[in-house]
Amino acid sequence: MEDKLFIYNTLTRRKEEFQALNPPFAGLYVCGPTVYGDAHLGHARPAVTFDVLFRYLTWLGYRVRYVRNITDVGHLTNDSDDGEDKIAKKAQLERLEPMELVQLYSNRFHKNMEQLNTLSPSIEPLASGHIIEQQALVKRILDNGFAYESNGSIYFDVEAYNRVHEYGKLSGRKVEELFANTRRLDGQEEKRNPFDFALWKKASPEHIMRWPSPWGEGFPGWHLECSCMSQKYLGDTFDIHGGGLDLQFPHHECEIAQSTAAYGHEAVRYWMHNNMITINGQKMGKSLGNFITLDQLFSGENDVLEQAYSPMTVRFFILQAHYRSPLDFSNEALKAAEKGYERLMNAVGALEQLKPGNQNTVDTEALAARCSEAMNDDLNTPILISQLFEGVRIINSIAAGSEQIDAEHLEALKTLFRSFVFDILGLAEAGEAAGKEREALGKVLDMVMAIRSEAKRNKEWAVSDRIRDELKNAGIAVKDTKEGYEWEIE
Ligand code: ZN
Repeated sequence: MEDKLFIYNTLTRRKEEFQALNPPFAGLYVCGPTVYGDAHLGHARPAVTFDVLFRYLTWLGYRVRYVRNITDVGHLTNDSDDGEDKIAKKAQLERLEPMELVQLYSNRFHKNMEQLNTLSPSIEPLASGHIIEQQALVKRILDNGFAYESNGSIYFDVEAYNRVHEYGKLSGRKVEELFANTRRLDGQEEKRNPFDFALWKKASPEHIMRWPSPWGEGFPGWHLECSCMSQKYLGDTFDIHGGGLDLQFPHHECEIAQSTAAYGHEAVRYWMHNNMITINGQKMGKSLGNFITLDQLFSGENDVLEQAYSPMTVRFFILQAHYRSPLDFSNEALKAAEKGYERLMNAVGALEQLKPGNQNTVDTEALAARCSEAMNDDLNTPILISQLFEGVRIINSIAAGSEQIDAEHLEALKTLFRSFVFDILGLAEAGEAAGKEREALGKVLDMVMAIRSEAKRNKEWAVSDRIRDELKNAGIAVKDTKEGYEWEIE
């Protein structure tokens, strides 16, 4: 860990040197999805951003415990305290048990994450599996005087909290302004003021997902689950908490308030937020007709898309922007990313073919230092990629004979590319390589099947039977159809 990694802490609003609380261990918590629908373009950015952070910390020598939750309860529509539960609402629509819906979309989410070559988190806890811990946390906050019970629900008392601590420090909002800019409650509602938020909600008679509690049957609040699960697995104080910028307020602001109210101190040392993805300059939304799921992106089946984009193109596209900058999706930008990624991968292939000479004109140390410098500067992946393209230029020059590299520097250049392209940026070719292999196998099968048809026409049964049997032995099932044949690997 000689490299000094600087990351932008949203809480202090400046770049700070990352120093793990208990090195070599580093705790990372990232807010995961609320699984009530297919993963979409908006999910890809935090997934890739924090995957790169996870990979880089690991590469630097930290033993990272990466916790990313699955929200399966308590996230209400419009992120409000009086909406319907997003999971329960969708489950009713699809006529599934809520947990059946959670499993279905969790599986699909995992498939998409694998396609994007993101590493699995170390722990992926479900909110519904931590009800007891969440109730204990509610009790602590109640006992400390920062929450109140109202009609079977427990609300966090923002005003009481703000008298002792500072509510709004993460998002830069002032409670006085929040009060001034919102309607006062008319006394008919459960909450004392509009900014109080639910720690525990009483379940209405028709509410499906409900648990017994000291305050009656109900379910936990959305903000509470992350405070609870992050501290359960990473300790009362842990290193990094990440998520999308859209979660900064109120979700993460409320997390800070909850932990401070419960334990008297903050839980998180560094807050990191990735910026959002827009589509042709617009916010993505179902009502705007520009909503793209990851499956659609990878298959091209969406009117917004002019073609399919491979998961690695999408990953490369995301990494070409700094995670704190906004990123605009367009077909032009994706096509450019596709070309850039191809150029990088071609060079990676060419690098493996290079032969060392006796002379050397390549300064691999300086290039490696600039790559590390880019990553250490708040994970500046666009600068890293531009340095890698400097490497591409060098590779092409060596191949063309205008520069020379000796064995030692060639090895260093290979290590540099393997480390930064594969280990750190996670730009694996695996998916595409498999696609190419399948394509080649298809062509071979066409040839074999043509020989089999010919043998059948000539009544050479021994040949046609042998082909069928040998394919079966190779684990390839072939079925004759009207159009020709179908095949699959068994
Ligand atoms: Zn969260």
